[in-house]
Amino acid sequence: MNYEPVIGLEVHVELNTKSKMFCRCSADYFGAEPNTHTCPVCLGLPGALPYINKAAIEDCMKIGLALNCQISEVSRFERKNYFYPDLSKGYQISQYRWPLCINGQLVLDNGQVIRINRAHQEEDTGKLSHVSGSTLIDFNRSGVPLVEIVTEPDFRDVESVRDYAKKLQQLFRYLGVSNADMERGDMRLEANISVRVKREGESGKELPNYRVELKNINSFRFMVAAIEYEIKRQIAAIEKGEKLSQETRGWDADKKCSYLQRSKEEAHDYRYFPEPDLPELSLQSSAISLQQIKDEMPELPWEKKERFQKQYKLSISQATILTESIKLADFFENTVKLGIDAIQIANFIINKKINIEEVLPTQVIEDIKAKKVGIIDSEEELTKLAEQSIAENEKSAADYRAGKEAALQAVIGGVMKLSLGKADVSKVKPLLEKLLK
Ligand SMILES: [Zn+2]
Repeated sequence: MNYEPVIGLEVHVELNTKSKMFCRCSADYFGAEPNTHTCPVCLGLPGALPYINKAAIEDCMKIGLALNCQISEVSRFERKNYFYPDLSKGYQISQYRWPLCINGQLVLDNGQVIRINRAHQEEDTGKLSHVSGSTLIDFNRSGVPLVEIVTEPDFRDVESVRDYAKKLQQLFRYLGVSNADMERGDMRLEANISVRVKREGESGKELPNYRVELKNINSFRFMVAAIEYEIKRQIAAIEKGEKLSQETRGWDADKKCSYLQRSKEEAHDYRYFPEPDLPELSLQSSAISLQQIKDEMPELPWEKKERFQKQYKLSISQATILTESIKLADFFENTVKLGIDAIQIANFIINKKINIEEVLPTQVIEDIKAKKVGIIDSEEELTKLAEQSIAENEKSAADYRAGKEAALQAVIGGVMKLSLGKADVSKVKPLLEKLLK
């Protein structure tokens, strides 16, 4: 039997706004003493009232616009109710029925279009650490703005998932909305995976009647390993005639296997209802100008990549590497502005793995100029060439010695010819003058 996986991805990204989503606490909590970035709102104390962080909403809109989403005229916050110790209020303020951004898409390198169901705004939870038999809670992260981006189940292979996730990470950094550092938990992935028999013509029509949710994957490498493992596990189960069911699984990076966290019977009913303490978000009546955000959108990574190919005649791989970060792309363009062929500069930056933190564009130009002619400027090599040229141009050398200055040109020309044009002319003349004294 030929099987094909059906995969959807949920990406959580923590925004790097100054303050938290619904209070004025600093959202820059990384490495801070536990529970020092808290207030009655993000601790969920009775009577505390949330208010909306405008910058976070604008960032969410930027993400939505970049992903070709529709920005909802009216969206709402809702309470997602569940009990967990890291959730001080007993509910998370999220968006469910009325998300801020809907119906987007992202085109992958292989040309496949991934449909994006939504990009909505929510808040992060606190953090638990389990220390020798007890559990500690740090609420510094509680209430930090989080955007969740959900795709339709459009992925059919793990490579596409990786490409998509990497594109999102690059996008967040281009937009400046998040550092998207996976190790620090700025960006977290969840994959919904099921497997079906691949049939000609029917592909993509019918979704399997179950899906397995892989939770909180914090590196691209783990994501690839976890999805590959899960696809194999599911195919093996189907082959054995087992019935797969809706469940949530975690990834054990040490044992390199997924493990059951929750089965369908225990699945949560979140009892969503509109957050009564927050107004609806209306584009009409809010202080946010969608037009202004559109006007201020930076060039997106895939737009930059295409422009680099067209404008500088770079290959896809050159353009891909040079647009990996805005910093590198800017460095490249600043160097091109100083002259010299763009392709030569691209090759030099890529092949030499130039560290743009340590080098200036002008230095790159100088290095290329030096390298371009592959200049031979060592005394030893030049002397060898000069002696050979003198031997080959015996008459001219003799004429020069006899006082005929112009005869030196022929000997210089001989050195250039022998060096295939690579000898440093400025050094050749004085060297010959010395040798022919
Ligand atoms: Zn707070």
